[in-house]
Amino acid sequence: MAEFKKTAMPVTREEDYPQWYLEVIKAAELAENSDVRGCMVIKPWGYTIWENMQRELDQMFKDTGHTNAYFPLFIPLSYMQQEADHVEGFAKECAVVTHHRLRQTEDGKLVPDGELEEPLIVRPTSETIIGASYAKWVNSYRDLPILINQWANVVRWEMRTRLFLRTAEFLWQEGHTVHATQEEAMEETTKMLYVYKEFAENVLAIPVIEGEKTESERFPGAVSTYSIEAMMQDKKALQSGTSHFLGQNFARSSKIKFQSREGKEEFAWTTSWGVSTRLIGALIMAHSDDNGLVLPPRIAPVHIVILPIYKDEKEKETVMDYISGIKKEISGLRLYDRKIVIHIDERDIRGGEKNWYWIKKGVPLKIEIGPRDVEKNTISVVKRTDPDLKKNFVSKDEFVKELILTLTIMQDELFKKADSFQKENTFEIDDYNEFKKVFTPKNEEKPEIHGCFARSHWCGNRKCEEAIKDELKVTVRNIPFSEKEIEGKCIYCGNKSSKRVIFAKSY
Ligand SMILES: [Zn+2]
Repeated sequence: MAEFKKTAMPVTREEDYPQWYLEVIKAAELAENSDVRGCMVIKPWGYTIWENMQRELDQMFKDTGHTNAYFPLFIPLSYMQQEADHVEGFAKECAVVTHHRLRQTEDGKLVPDGELEEPLIVRPTSETIIGASYAKWVNSYRDLPILINQWANVVRWEMRTRLFLRTAEFLWQEGHTVHATQEEAMEETTKMLYVYKEFAENVLAIPVIEGEKTESERFPGAVSTYSIEAMMQDKKALQSGTSHFLGQNFARSSKIKFQSREGKEEFAWTTSWGVSTRLIGALIMAHSDDNGLVLPPRIAPVHIVILPIYKDEKEKETVMDYISGIKKEISGLRLYDRKIVIHIDERDIRGGEKNWYWIKKGVPLKIEIGPRDVEKNTISVVKRTDPDLKKNFVSKDEFVKELILTLTIMQDELFKKADSFQKENTFEIDDYNEFKKVFTPKNEEKPEIHGCFARSHWCGNRKCEEAIKDELKVTVRNIPFSEKEIEGKCIYCGNKSSKRVIFAKSY
């Protein structure tokens, strides 16, 4: 008889991956759908994760010479029209403000009133509105470079939404820089892509593949777009950050001009780059298991949760005294510049329920302390990364002494696990039948986890790319920097190809 293993999530990853994803979010209280179609409510646990991401990224931006500023939420319609490709890319998903007040009708209903002369668009991205300011700020080569980042919300009217991965409104950061030369702008584009890679791998413990997007997946209006792509546990790719080299396209449309050193008037070179709350979706799908959320220590809202166990007031006093001693000992410790966060759960609820509550929320270390632990100067620890969630009894002093090392190892283990998973599910595929087989689910009704990252040759022709997309819903994720020039045959048409690319299904 097969062993029956009970899990905290009502469905496992194997049973129904998309549903499992939603259950993890629900159980961990990360976010929920709002009454406004397509918009999510990010709950405190989810928002703290976002704040932790912001803090880490913000420091990395500042370390690379950037500062923050803030630009308007509304973009005049005429600004959007300036860049033709940009219009085409975003027109279908714009929220448009057409009126500026409400009027009450005789039967008490509110109706929009005061039509605007020029409609305003709620920013889907800010190249054009920021460009308008930059045009005023830049006169001479001495004004360059401009290295600014904005933390903001944006709106892209999505009809089919999924929490964190695709919502009408989402939070993000968008970097917008201006440079005097093409080389400098290109260097910035690459630099920020590597900032994202470092962040994804070191802080989120998610291995990513960096490379260039194909023309069809390019940011509307960009000369070239670069991405980092991560593999989720269902073997689909999640684009986790993008950096765009905009050439002089946006400088031309926004009229960002400057006097060069030689006294000539030139258009500037611009870049933009961004990551969003989508990364929370990546975090969930890269690490979580059938018991709920698993968080890398560096991003966890709480590092350690302590559950006191006592039967009466006298025991309570002893146990709580002991816990405040531990808290004091740990209070000075830091994991990568962040103070260790301890939460003591004193709620009056059943022990079992309390236990699972924190497992589902993904807190790295869960500690139980009862009167007997106080006597023996021990504690019982459960690591969230341990698939068996085994209780370990250790001496308190040892625990405190080893704490930072323990958390660092856990962080490392999560990365290694995700990295092995990605490597084990990445294949060189040169035969289209084999390619088709890998990307075709066995049960069309309820598709099971399937697919991979296929390193295959592609001739560079858009037609092959589209044909594969239509047939299998598989796209070129990016053309990795790490792939060497090597002669081969396009997986679809058999024509000459000089490089392998990453094909996968994606979010
Ligand atoms: Zn081809």
